[in-house]
Amino acid sequence: MAGGWCSTRPPSITSGRSDAQGRIVAGGGASLSALIAPAIAAGWFLPVTPGTRHVTVGGAIASDVHGKNHHRDGTITQHVESITLLFPSGETRAVTPESDAELFWATAGGMGLTGIILEARIRLTPAPTRFITVDTYRTRNLDQTMSLMTEYDVRTRYSVSWIDLVTTGAQLGRGVLTCGDHAPLDALTPGTRDDARQWKPRPAPPVPPVFPSQVVNRLTSRLFNEAWFRKAPAERLGELMPLETFFYPLDIVDRWNRVYGPRGFVQWQCVLPFGEEARLRRIVEAFVAGPVPAALAVLKRFGAANPGPLSFPLPGWTLAVDLPAARGDTLAAFLDGLDRGVVEGGGRIYLSKDARMRPEWLDVMYPRLDEWRAVQSRVDPSGRLTSDLDRRLGITAHASARVHGHGTRTTGDAG
Ligand SMILES: Cc1cc2nc3c(=O)[nH]c(=O)nc-3n(C[C@H](O)[C@H](O)[C@H](O)COP(=O)(O)OP(=O)(O)OC[C@H]3O[C@@H](n4cnc5c(N)ncnc54)[C@H](O)[C@@H]3O)c2cc1C
Repeated sequence: MAGGWCSTRPPSITSGRSDAQGRIVAGGGASLSALIAPAIAAGWFLPVTPGTRHVTVGGAIASDVHGKNHHRDGTITQHVESITLLFPSGETRAVTPESDAELFWATAGGMGLTGIILEARIRLTPAPTRFITVDTYRTRNLDQTMSLMTEYDVRTRYSVSWIDLVTTGAQLGRGVLTCGDHAPLDALTPGTRDDARQWKPRPAPPVPPVFPSQVVNRLTSRLFNEAWFRKAPAERLGELMPLETFFYPLDIVDRWNRVYGPRGFVQWQCVLPFGEEARLRRIVEAFVAGPVPAALAVLKRFGAANPGPLSFPLPGWTLAVDLPAARGDTLAAFLDGLDRGVVEGGGRIYLSKDARMRPEWLDVMYPRLDEWRAVQSRVDPSGRLTSDLDRRLGITAHASARVHGHGTRTTGDAG
């Protein structure tokens, strides 16, 4: 969606009179990557960032993205003061939580279906330098991964665990937990202090389009996971890391998705409420024994939910797993079974990552869907806003009528 409808004008940054609050005004089509250098130069950083910087402001709000700091800072929209929307009627309006709370929060995670986001004003977070102070811990198994995450979330702003979904037995769910916060100037060596606020990441070399589809298989996934685990220190405290290494490890290689070959990959991301740890363990066991190898898996803890009816996070554990796409129905049936477990545990699938979920589960996972639809119909009464995701899942009332046959919706039948 970058460009086109959305203003890509250079972001403008203001530091409040007392310098206590930085804000950025950016076009909906501006890439988060383009905001980082001016923000860091002024002593600020994005309040929430996903695991890639190559997403737009509009896309980030439409997905209501979360980062490694959800337990502390919530989602991106919780730091947005104003969203300028273009409606199907042609009207353009700035929407704030004060002027129209329903529409503002329906836009958070509304997958672009409440209007085109032309511009947003976002509060920034203080960042004295372009470095993060990082603590790394290698964990023996899932129990230790989860208990360390629980312990360290309370203390650290950012935290995330890579977990191994290939190794089984006593080491099931072993991982590498990384926690961090923005490094103060005095943590830097004198030589590094000079350019502490100049953010210039190295250009990423591209992966050539030469990989066949079977390169990511059980053997290579095992080797990759073993290498990733061994490369991590058992424990390392206070390491200074450039922010791009900490937040965006995949961006270090351009078009990394090409390693999956022409068939590509599927990402499955769920959240399960706290108290459903046994179910999370069963999901981890299912992946280890699953029909295709889990190439990459990440576990995070979410804090409180925000008022957005379609916003993904709820207090609990979120697991994101990348799998090579496979021929036939086996992978689809396997993931359908996991979706069922997620629903039974009171959790949900992240719409932003979804390309395969069955529409029957949508209103079970997102029980405030009708409330969201009422707001969506207010700004788009004739059902002009839609997308492939909407046509497949029936998110809007118009699409739902087509998906489910004029309101005859079936729920819970995803056997
Ligand atoms: C490597 C990687 C890591 C990721 N890590 C995370 C993570 O840690 N946390 C997380 O929450 N997400 C994560 N994501 C998902 C990503 O942040 C979201 O999918 C995001 O919405 C993508 O934004 P985009 O600009 O590419 O939008 P697109 O992919 O083009 O669109 C995504 C949605 O936003 C809508 N949209 C886009 N622009 C606008 C606009 N201007 N106005 C209205 N609607 C619009 C589209 O209609 C669509 O529904 C990750 C994705 C990748 C590839």
